[in-house]
Amino acid sequence: MIKPQRSSAYSALKTNCMESIFDKLYFSFTGQQINALNNFEPSPAQLYQAEILFTTLQRKEEYKTDFFDDKGRFMAEKSIMHLAGKSKQPMVDAFFDEIFPDAYASIYQYKCIPTFDIDNAYAFKGKGFAKNAGGMAKNIYSDPKRASARFNTWFDAKADPYDTYGYIIQICRSFGLRPLFFIQMGNYNNGFDTNINFKKSEGRKLIEFLSVHGDIGLHPSYASNFDEETLKREYDLLSEISGKPITKSRQHFLMLRFPETYRRLIDLGITEDYSMGWSSQIGFRASTSRPFLWYDLEREEFSGLTVYPFPCMDGTLHEYMNLPEEEAIDEIANLVSETRRHQGVFVPLWHNHSVNDKWEWNGWQTVFEQMLALACP
Ligand SMILES: [Zn+2]
Repeated sequence: MIKPQRSSAYSALKTNCMESIFDKLYFSFTGQQINALNNFEPSPAQLYQAEILFTTLQRKEEYKTDFFDDKGRFMAEKSIMHLAGKSKQPMVDAFFDEIFPDAYASIYQYKCIPTFDIDNAYAFKGKGFAKNAGGMAKNIYSDPKRASARFNTWFDAKADPYDTYGYIIQICRSFGLRPLFFIQMGNYNNGFDTNINFKKSEGRKLIEFLSVHGDIGLHPSYASNFDEETLKREYDLLSEISGKPITKSRQHFLMLRFPETYRRLIDLGITEDYSMGWSSQIGFRASTSRPFLWYDLEREEFSGLTVYPFPCMDGTLHEYMNLPEEEAIDEIANLVSETRRHQGVFVPLWHNHSVNDKWEWNGWQTVFEQMLALACP
C-alpha cells in the first residue's frame, strides 16, 4: 500500500520529469510514444535508475568533458560503466525489459551485421610506383616477407594481401550474413588517412564490387573531423562512385565528439551511425546492444539518426588487450550471448587486412570464422 507521504513526493516527481524520462527511454528504442504512466507506477529507485540509464544511453558523460586520449577521443577507462565493472553487460536493455516486459522482444529479433572498415583498401595495389619502390627499399631488410609480397603484387603474380573482399563476402554468405563495408575515402599524407586514391580505376572498381555484394557506408577520415568541406567531399565521392545515396557511417579511429559529430553526419544525410564502441576496451559503450535513436542532450530533441552500437573490434582484442585467440573467442561468445539475450544487433568490427591470416594477424582468421559461427542467427 502506498503511504500518503510517498504519494505526494511521487506526484511532484511525476509532474517534473518522470513522464518525460520514461517516454524518452521508450522512444529511444521503439520510435513510438507511450503513456508509460497509465499502467505503471515506478518507485523512486526506478525513477532514479531511469534518469541515470537514459543519460548513459545518450552519452551525457561525453559532453563537456576533458577525458580525451591522444587522438581526442573520450577515454573508455573513464566511463561510468567501465569504472563500475558493468561495461560488458547492456544495463539499459535489462532495465528497459524490467520496466516494459516483452515490449522490445515483441517487435525486434536478434540480428548480426558483420562490419569492415577499409582504411587501406590494398597493401600495395593502386599505390603507384614511387610509394611501392620506397616501401620495398624499407621492407627488404626489416620485413623480407612483406617485401616479397609487395614485389609479387606489383607484377600481379599474387593477389594483394589486403584483397580479402571475395573471401569476406563468401564466408559471410555461407553463414547467411551480409557484410557492411565502411570506406575511408581520404589519402592526405597526414599519417592517419592513407587509403588509395578512389578517383582512379582500382578504387572505383572496388567500390562498385562491394556495393553489389554487400552494403557500403562512409568511413569519414580523421581530417574530416576538423573540416566540414572535407567530410562533404568524401561523402559526395562515395555517393557518386557507388551511384547510391549513402546513409550509413562509422568514424575512422572512432573519432566521436558530442554533439558535433552526429549533428554533422545528420546534415550530410546519414541516418545510421556505427561508431558507438571503444578502441581500447570491448563492451557496450552506451550500455545497450540495441540500435537506438540519438537524442541531442544539448538541444533536448530526438534526431533522425539511429545509432548501431558495436561491442568489439579486432584491434581491441588483439592489439590493445593482447589476448590469445582462444580468449578472444571466449570474450566474443560472452558479448554475443548478452546481445542475443536482449534481442540486440551484434555488430563486430573487423578490417579487410585483419582477416588475411598473414603477418601480425596470423591465426585470427579462425577467430573471425568462429565468431561468425557463434553470431549468425
Ligand atoms: Zn578506420
